[in-house]
Amino acid sequence: GGEEIMDTVADRLGELWFDPAQVFIGGVWRDVDAHLPLEDPSTGAGIGRIARGGAAEIDAAVRAARVALDGAWGRTTAAERGRILARIGQMVLARADDLAALEASDVGKPLKQAKADALALARYMEFYAGAADKVMGETIPYLEGYTVYTLREPHGVTGHIVPWNYPMQIIGRSVGAALAMGNACVLKPAEEACLTALAFARLAEAAGLPPGALNVVPGLGEEAGAALTAHPGVNHISFTGSVGVGRLVQVAAAENIVPVTLELGGKSPQVVFADADLDKALPFLVNAGIQNAGQTCSASSRILVERPLYDRVVARMAQRYAALKVGPARADLDVGPLISARQKEIVEGFLAMASGAEVVARGQIAGDAPAGGHYVAPTLMAGLSPDHRLAQDEIFGPAQVILPFEDEEEAVAIANGTDYGLVASIWSENGGRQMRLAKRLRAGQVFVNNYGAGGGVELPFGGTGKSGHGREKGFEALYGFSTLKTVAAHHG
Ligand code: NAD
Repeated sequence: GGEEIMDTVADRLGELWFDPAQVFIGGVWRDVDAHLPLEDPSTGAGIGRIARGGAAEIDAAVRAARVALDGAWGRTTAAERGRILARIGQMVLARADDLAALEASDVGKPLKQAKADALALARYMEFYAGAADKVMGETIPYLEGYTVYTLREPHGVTGHIVPWNYPMQIIGRSVGAALAMGNACVLKPAEEACLTALAFARLAEAAGLPPGALNVVPGLGEEAGAALTAHPGVNHISFTGSVGVGRLVQVAAAENIVPVTLELGGKSPQVVFADADLDKALPFLVNAGIQNAGQTCSASSRILVERPLYDRVVARMAQRYAALKVGPARADLDVGPLISARQKEIVEGFLAMASGAEVVARGQIAGDAPAGGHYVAPTLMAGLSPDHRLAQDEIFGPAQVILPFEDEEEAVAIANGTDYGLVASIWSENGGRQMRLAKRLRAGQVFVNNYGAGGGVELPFGGTGKSGHGREKGFEALYGFSTLKTVAAHHG
């Protein structure tokens, strides 16, 4: 029951213990009246309860953020904000194993992948710590007798709505950049996974982040999330999640005329030409599809292959798939469970659309995987038309589709032929082709002869089309989390 996860938290964070059933508002950990159950996706068992924050807690959090902006947090210099972020980063790093263990129980992701997320969270803090005091305006030549310059100022209160698939990564990139610019944040983590959001707040508190600069209110999307997007005291919303909810968020933001960043889904292609170095490509082709059980916005779910190499890619990917092992997060196999029974049902519904002949390989679920866990065997498909729903819709599970193409023209047409445009990669040794396709592929990020290698906190990220708009990560995020003021002084 509830004690179990609290023991885990106590063991894991030691003197930084927090109560997962509380909210964090204005620097104070508070009890709430209502709660939600929390489940371990590897077993399906209840592991505790979390706060079911609602409109009242969101309102208190937005007010606390405003108080922080009007007080100590609003007066911090950029250098001081950088120093605080650096301290948070060091604390995250020191507890990376503990954070990874929390995330593994909460999200069901294999420990090694959870550890990579914890290290990325530390890297985001480090990156935005160093960037905080390097955001500059410009001076602009103007009329005789004038001096004109620009100032980059925080939006004010920023709302952050985060999904369950990569809580630490997404908190790192959005809250990290927002704090660096001097905003005060209200974070609404996903109801399925909020433990590392709370742990992060506890670490930030211990690192000296002033009260109210970061507030965390777990709760349901249609309650706490909707209350946050509708709140007139919020000045910017960063949303990461599904297209459907992204649309609701943008509509709500329109009511209050506030800017939004939408990081939505994808159907990201890797385009493999006949001259590609296949040995180098193979691990990327497969890993980009099955990492986090395919529950990744930037998952590469379509593999486009030039005809002469097609049979070889199908055979070699099938070989890798057959060797993939699925099991509980703590067993740290290749693939963990999906987040919930509902997600498993959705993914299985998609997979049922493929005929037997179209399924070329499946991974194996470990014999001792707990019966209540939400396991789905990774599934590799080929022989589908590029218009098939399996080649068009985001499945958000461990599944990939291989599609052949005849030439560069057709490769571009298929790659760009979905509603999405998040990430794409080109595998080819031909420099001219690399550059031509990098321009023509519709995506916010294009990789050449790799796919998201190294995590890339430095690299601006975001979508085109239904993948969303606005950019997070990298230095670019600091522009998104700030507003520009032009000062024109007449001095004769
Ligand atoms: P989701 O949209 O259901 O939920 C995301 C968040 O929104 C959760 O915190 C949820 O509580 C909240 N929410 C739900 N309804 C809301 C409402 N009416 N108002 C305000 N907030 C609300 O998404 P999900 O199923 O949890 O996540 C999967 C989706 O997220 C996939 O489509 C995936 O591609 C996308 N995603 C995108 C990125 C990216 O960076 N582009 C990263 C991760 C996930």
